[in-house]
Amino acid sequence: MPSSSIPPSSSSPTVTTVLGPVPVHRIGLTDAHNHVWINPPAGVAPGAPVLNDYEASLRELLLFHQAGGSALLDFQPYGCGRDARILQKLARESGVHLIACTGFHLRKYYPPESPLWELSAGAACDLFVREITRGTEETLSEKDATPAQAGFIKAACEATLEASPRHLFEAAASAARQTGAMVAVHTEKGASAERIVDFFQRQGLPPGRLMLCHIDKRPDPGLHQELARAGVLLEYDTFFRPQYHPEERLWPLLEAMGKADLLGSIALATDLADLSMWASTGKGPGLASLPSLIRARLLQRGFNPAGVQAMLGENVLQRLAG
Ligand SMILES: [Zn+2]
Repeated sequence: MPSSSIPPSSSSPTVTTVLGPVPVHRIGLTDAHNHVWINPPAGVAPGAPVLNDYEASLRELLLFHQAGGSALLDFQPYGCGRDARILQKLARESGVHLIACTGFHLRKYYPPESPLWELSAGAACDLFVREITRGTEETLSEKDATPAQAGFIKAACEATLEASPRHLFEAAASAARQTGAMVAVHTEKGASAERIVDFFQRQGLPPGRLMLCHIDKRPDPGLHQELARAGVLLEYDTFFRPQYHPEERLWPLLEAMGKADLLGSIALATDLADLSMWASTGKGPGLASLPSLIRARLLQRGFNPAGVQAMLGENVLQRLAG
């Protein structure tokens, strides 16, 4: 039975997309970490990713949709290039459910005078809560715009947790406690993973509310199994990053997690914040590779279909829905 024929019920859990809440059962294959729009503000150091060609983003999302992609988490928060008005237009025109984030990225992606970094923990928490419950800053400040609410909280860990802004981490934890939103933590190649989980636990946020990003860059199966058993959602995205040797690291890691019966703790993504890696603009595999190439290869390698479906959407959607 196609999922769309299941009648919606008022108790059905929903995910907050930029076009409003959508019942989980209406969403299919989901990319757990990507970028479809980044327009860095003036003053950001050169070298930051730029994705500000609307037609290219739309074409790329249409390819994703045609290949069977249903939803995508966009990982650019407020103040470092997000524009939720554009995310709304892209979602409407592509048919892809886009889920925006609040929270914060690495310091280097903001102009030196960015107000976010001067906020107190309380004020930052208020901002994150407002973006989740009422709407993102750019859609709230515009009179005619329909507010686009954020669907999760991003927190970016610098090279270590100690080098990261503690007040913003506290704000993320407190906003998650207040709203029930998932916290997705950017890690630098998995650094401080154990300490991050410990930090949030001390702040009253159980591991089941956390997703650790780019953690396959630290492909230690023992660590992954320990984090998964604690309830953390592990996001893997190095499929097309030769420098991380996906054949020797990512694929064996996936197999080890499958053998340990832990596919329910993995969320897959391609994180292609680079036009040259898109199919519509470069020679890249593009966003469509997740529903096509990667999905096919998982099945070919003998991963059970239920586990594949879980890694390609269900696991992250369940956490987003709280
Ligand atoms: Zn990213």
